[in-house]
Amino acid sequence: MPLFQVRLAFFLAFFAGLLQTGFSELVAGKPENTPQSEKSSRPDPKSLSKHVFTLAAPEMEGRGTPAGKQKAVDYLIEQFESLGLAPLFPDGQFIQEIPGPRAAGGRPTVVGRNLGAWLPGADPVLREEFVIISAHYDHLGIRDGQIYHGADDNAGSVAMMLETARIFAEAQNRPRRSLVFLSCDLEENLLWGSRWFVAHPPWPLAQVKLFVTAELIGRTLGDLPLPAVFVMGGEHSPGLRQLVDDAPCSSKLQVRHLGADLVGTRSDYGPFRGERVPFLFFSGGEHRDYHRPTDTAEKLDYDRVAHITEVVCGVCRTVADVDQPPRWNDAPEHTLDEVRTLEEITGLLLKLDDRARLAGKGRLSDSQRFTVSNVHQRTRQMLERKELDPAERPWLVRAAQLLLLTVF
Ligand SMILES: [Zn+2]
Repeated sequence: MPLFQVRLAFFLAFFAGLLQTGFSELVAGKPENTPQSEKSSRPDPKSLSKHVFTLAAPEMEGRGTPAGKQKAVDYLIEQFESLGLAPLFPDGQFIQEIPGPRAAGGRPTVVGRNLGAWLPGADPVLREEFVIISAHYDHLGIRDGQIYHGADDNAGSVAMMLETARIFAEAQNRPRRSLVFLSCDLEENLLWGSRWFVAHPPWPLAQVKLFVTAELIGRTLGDLPLPAVFVMGGEHSPGLRQLVDDAPCSSKLQVRHLGADLVGTRSDYGPFRGERVPFLFFSGGEHRDYHRPTDTAEKLDYDRVAHITEVVCGVCRTVADVDQPPRWNDAPEHTLDEVRTLEEITGLLLKLDDRARLAGKGRLSDSQRFTVSNVHQRTRQMLERKELDPAERPWLVRAAQLLLLTVF
């Protein structure tokens, strides 16, 4: 996620901010064994872990220095090639260069490189339509002599993308539409990589039927014992949320829908949303190591990443095969799902704080507790009424902004 938006109205960030004050001991997730025979067709936690440990290794220098980025680029291209994927860009290139300002004497410069590969669809007509699975590979590099490894932001999601690519590349039945695996650069710089891609796509963007991206999927919100992944964007495409809910999903993962407007523009879906491309954004939310040198590979829960990858694969498979793919709708459709999500999170925060207070060490300050209680009560009332009053929705967003200001 780009630094510049950290202070925008991100409701979840508020909670993560609260959680930086505590709850750190509550890390969920037990390893789950995947039978050997199923590894080829299902997301494999070991492969996911290998990608993350490689991309977040010290020699990658936080994927923000020229040398570190070069190693990440080499690794990703090697993966694309080993899967037999086709280069996405003209002249057989896996790389789309992002030009910078001209240097002295008019010499062109390159400031970043998007990476892309694709798997042509099986249907001779529908192969001209695309489902994009994306995760930015850049991170913050080295600052004040410290490496910002960016394991959860965003090596975990790059691993998800690579594992999705492997599963489709090895699948017996290729989807009817084409799948694109896109890893943008410069996400941490005002989403510049995805902005460049959207301004210079290899084909008209109307041919993109779904754009999926992910951030911070290897851990839970504030490391809370809440095995949820938040999915945003479904509100803009009728039926898309149902497709997500119908995708195969482990009982150990809960899919929770939120409106993307609650979180601001947090990732590479922003430029695609601007072009009215149906999108989904998967995220676990922030935690205390977000944008810190301590965001390291051993802290991710790879079974969790595998479960999320399974959902992504399921949704992409369906959208790549159905007769009627999702369509963009300017007017978002909001449901009680997001109210339920906020009620659940605030309820959990209060419960944990109650427990901590009983032990004589409250986790929330009195004012934080007041605010959390307030949101909890009001979302409960909304749920009891069993209907969403559209006039109340701005309250959700405003409350988020107020809370953010109160906490930071
Ligand atoms: Zn990020």
